[in-house]
Amino acid sequence: MIPEKIKKILRKQHYEIVGEHSAVQICRWTKKSLRNEGVCYKEKFYGIKSHLCCQMTPAVIWCPNKCVHCWRAIELTLGDKISGKIDSPKKIIDGCIKAQRKLLTGFKILPNSRKKQLSKADIKKYQEAQEPMQFAISLSGEPTIYEKIGNLISGLRKRGKTSFLVINGLYPEKIKELKNKNQLPTQLYISVNTPNKELYKKFHRSSKKNAWEKLNETLEFFPKIRNKTRTVFRMNLVRGLNMIEPENYAKLIKKSNPLFVEIKGFMSVGFARKRLGYERMPTHKEVKDFSEKLVKELNSIGENYKILDEKIESRVLVLGKRKEELKIKKI
Ligand code: SF4
Repeated sequence: MIPEKIKKILRKQHYEIVGEHSAVQICRWTKKSLRNEGVCYKEKFYGIKSHLCCQMTPAVIWCPNKCVHCWRAIELTLGDKISGKIDSPKKIIDGCIKAQRKLLTGFKILPNSRKKQLSKADIKKYQEAQEPMQFAISLSGEPTIYEKIGNLISGLRKRGKTSFLVINGLYPEKIKELKNKNQLPTQLYISVNTPNKELYKKFHRSSKKNAWEKLNETLEFFPKIRNKTRTVFRMNLVRGLNMIEPENYAKLIKKSNPLFVEIKGFMSVGFARKRLGYERMPTHKEVKDFSEKLVKELNSIGENYKILDEKIESRVLVLGKRKEELKIKKI
């Protein structure tokens, strides 16, 4: 259950609370796409549609970490066990779709109205957006803490929707369970932001004592699911903090053999702004220079990754082995 005080704060940040422990927030790229002002890098790289994306979480304030770069309200998180009543996946999916529709109301255009309308939305896109087809399970908190995450993913698949699940890697047993039950998402992201254990402690400030070891256990398991889901090793680069030791990042990538490596520049927004200022945001050139160093290290250990694409305004690049694998072909 989410305490009333925290609900208030989340609502102020335009979250729509769903049931007991889930939430939706409209991504700024969904809004931009609705106004035909651009799309997110995941639409450019993988082909999902930003205007059909539902950014949600089934564990809005539950996470064992307090990562310094997180732009969510980690100061409010309540550890790694959801307390109280647990909602069914169906209730969460239906609730998220309803919440998404509610949050998009401001984009509505009344075609026959004589009143001056403020919305700049593309009406066709707005109508399509009533039925989100992509679930970004990543909004806030650690989604694998929700015990029925596998059924949530298979519920989305049954409805013909793609799912991107972002994990912190601290629950390898959950990923093994998803594999055994055939419940892996369309695309599975693991966040890896440090090349060694010492920096991991400072960066992620985990309440789990063996967090680095758990992360590595999940990375070691990744090759076993390579043909079951599209795996992504995701790095968030903070200037003057974790843009070091490309050779050690390369070893972690080799160990997990992901389909893609996403390398993104840190954004000093939301709650992260209080911890790390604008001066910590690397430019696209810095992110690209680091990516090139990483490619060199990977190539030197026999991993033929290369830069497949980039989106300059998002300061992000994607590495992989074959460009033709980028676009999603099946849910
Ligand atoms: S995939 Fe991510 S960035 Fe793109 S629209 Fe969805 S939540 Fe936003």
